[in-house]
Amino acid sequence: MFNINPSKMQKLFSIVFIALFFITISTAQTLQTPDAFLGYQLGTKFSRHHQVVDYFKYVASQVPNQVQLEQYGQTNERRPLMVAYISSEENLKNIETIRENNLKNTGILEGNPTANNVAVVWLSYNVHGNEASSTEASMKTLYTLLTEKQDWLKNTLVIIDPCINPDGRDRYVNWFNETSSTPYDSDQQASEHNEPWPGGRPNHYLFDLNRDWVWATQVESASRLKVYNKWMPQIHVDFHEQGINNPYYFAPAAEPFHEIISDWQRDFQTQIGNNNAKYFDAKGWLYFTRERFDLFYPSYGDTYPTYMGAIGMTFEQAGHGRGGLGVMNDEGTELTLIDRIAHHTTTGLSTVEMASKNAERLNEEFHKFFDTSGLKYKSYVLQGDADKIDGVKSLLDKHEMTYGYASSGKVTGYKYSMASDGSIDATSKDLVVSTNQPKGKMVKVLFEPNAKLMDSLTYDITAWSVPYAYGLEAVESTNLVATTAIGKTPVSNAKAASSTAYMMNWDSLKDAEFLANLLQQGIKVRFTEKPLTTDGKSYNRGTLIIVRGDNKGIDGFDDKLIQTANTYGRQLDAIASGFSTSGPDFGSPDIKLVHPPKVALLSGNGTSPNNYGEIWQFFEQQLHYPITSLNTEHFQYINLSKYQVLIIPSGNYKTMLDDNGMKKLQEWIQAGGKVIAIDRALNTFADKEGFALKRNKADEDKDKDKPDNLVPYADRERDNAKRFITGAIFKSKVDNTHPMAFGYPDSYFTLKLGSTSYKLLEKGYNVAYLEDQPKNVSGFAGSEALKTLGKTLVFGEERMGSGSLIYMADNTLFRSFWENGKLFLVNAVFFVNNNLAEL
Ligand SMILES: [Zn+2]
Repeated sequence: MFNINPSKMQKLFSIVFIALFFITISTAQTLQTPDAFLGYQLGTKFSRHHQVVDYFKYVASQVPNQVQLEQYGQTNERRPLMVAYISSEENLKNIETIRENNLKNTGILEGNPTANNVAVVWLSYNVHGNEASSTEASMKTLYTLLTEKQDWLKNTLVIIDPCINPDGRDRYVNWFNETSSTPYDSDQQASEHNEPWPGGRPNHYLFDLNRDWVWATQVESASRLKVYNKWMPQIHVDFHEQGINNPYYFAPAAEPFHEIISDWQRDFQTQIGNNNAKYFDAKGWLYFTRERFDLFYPSYGDTYPTYMGAIGMTFEQAGHGRGGLGVMNDEGTELTLIDRIAHHTTTGLSTVEMASKNAERLNEEFHKFFDTSGLKYKSYVLQGDADKIDGVKSLLDKHEMTYGYASSGKVTGYKYSMASDGSIDATSKDLVVSTNQPKGKMVKVLFEPNAKLMDSLTYDITAWSVPYAYGLEAVESTNLVATTAIGKTPVSNAKAASSTAYMMNWDSLKDAEFLANLLQQGIKVRFTEKPLTTDGKSYNRGTLIIVRGDNKGIDGFDDKLIQTANTYGRQLDAIASGFSTSGPDFGSPDIKLVHPPKVALLSGNGTSPNNYGEIWQFFEQQLHYPITSLNTEHFQYINLSKYQVLIIPSGNYKTMLDDNGMKKLQEWIQAGGKVIAIDRALNTFADKEGFALKRNKADEDKDKDKPDNLVPYADRERDNAKRFITGAIFKSKVDNTHPMAFGYPDSYFTLKLGSTSYKLLEKGYNVAYLEDQPKNVSGFAGSEALKTLGKTLVFGEERMGSGSLIYMADNTLFRSFWENGKLFLVNAVFFVNNNLAEL
């Protein structure tokens, strides 16, 4: 480490040398434990994020030759996101070579690796904020690796992310610190074991980051993917916690496994599980494996790395938001934070040990995973709206996957819109994504129309196919489709000062962002409810018309408009006259002004934190349109007349909408208010007097001839699956003459998240609905659940006095990845019954 030659100025140098020698050699011994550094025994208090960051910084400063810290991002609440690279001094000197070798092993970098004997293990802690023991364990794991387990580091690079979700974790920790008794109270009913809404699990926007790896809609995920893709670890562990009565879960995972998971991946996670078991058995700690946690939906911290070639695993410790510093579980055993930390530290270290013992084999097998030549389908060709194609491209960019544009010609294969074989005539605007690239297996997982499900017992969605989610036509081909690289011509609008109006077609979320921006600049915008032709061009329903005469009061109207259109990449058409060739003229009552609505959103008790967060983030980060959050607990005092739109997220509103609350809401709707109710919020209105919405009760009479009580005890759970839909894709029929469906064709693929359904509205507009005998085009739907879905509502509008109630049975913002559904919500806000009522 120190090349000091003591031959000159020997005496002085010896002193310096001895001093330096002492510092160097004794670093490991003098490195402060987390206990010493923090000033309390780990597990006797919850450490806040900044304390954890400080400890990692301290260790990196003490052992710089073996620990490097990298800040890879910042959360919404400005907490640092970081990873630590931990290895031997020799390895850290060559860290860039190790990284390049690893990428060469995958084929992402060209050339052969110069060595293949260092294992890359990534440990991710605390993705769910209130599963708070794991971040504590990350400090203990760091310390132990550097003191007792130096041997393993000779051939292993360990990457530790001490906290994936610092905002959520600090929400939990700060709440616990202010709530907990001293000493802690182990009574399960004590406040300190019962978190208030929204809980510490999700991030700032209340997203579950362990469902966000693929969609990367959150800043934490998007920032992490950049480092992840730089490294592509061979093993990834995601540390979690589960209910206080389930001791510990580790790999091997439960069925279903996705079919691309290799035998080696199955086998090695079992070997790691066995190694964990050895340590747990020696201490008498309980655990379970092969149950509950499956490997299917690709957006988890275990599946995503698995589909990227790693051994991806989830470890679950008993605890969670109910754990606190100590809690008495149902078996009468006290579960302490100290124990929880010990368990997570043990499995983390055991994983590193297995990596170190099998480093060369890990490298060999990792390399094999990236051979994609055996994949049957070679290319996915996507066709449709340019904005939607752009959306898919930015998704692919997040994962550093490659794509190109098609050449002209017919492509045959499985055609998504028909859910059967067919063909498309490809053009140079169509996107081609092929599996002959290192991440080809992930391409298959994301794009294939229907992932093969070997077991229906999964509690997450079973369908996510990208073309359906983005609303694009696609063909899956067994032939490799040739690509060309064609640059996009940037949109450029020119000022047309003599025009009467500018027009723009309406069919994508980019159009919606543009509209939201114009409204906030005070620019008046109209939209047409009927198709029209003018200046030799036809325009669909929903087309925006920005009339000069409406905007006389706007200084520099043309410049502002053109600049905004260029910023958003929107092509405007300058129109000479308001006298249309066919269809309504610009002054027609069928061409309506968009009154910029004041939008409110319910939050707090009763609302689903996830759905509330999805809507909040959508308005704040995607649409960029102001939204006011109203707490359900204040509902009785709130003056609703200040808002034109009230969005009610999925949730339970029995308390808020009691007789008085319901009366208040109905009066506001009658006067012109517009409610948009989503998913489970529909239950609040179904079968209630004064509302047209009816629950579909068909499921209550089913199974008459085969009563459930004859299904054996052991088979009940599996038998229940026939009533399940946990997330499957259905083709719905759309009335695209209704303003809520402007910009859509006459069909829409909807992601159905449950088997609850509602009848078609007898009084009202059925905007999107399932026809007779619907079939799931992708994903699992139980046979009994399917029988009940014929002629049920997807989206509808009921008029009430001057106002409207809009029902969205399917949540189009679910995890914010079903891109093609988002415009329905925007249309509901801006176009449906936009009447400028005096509320
Ligand atoms: Zn979790």
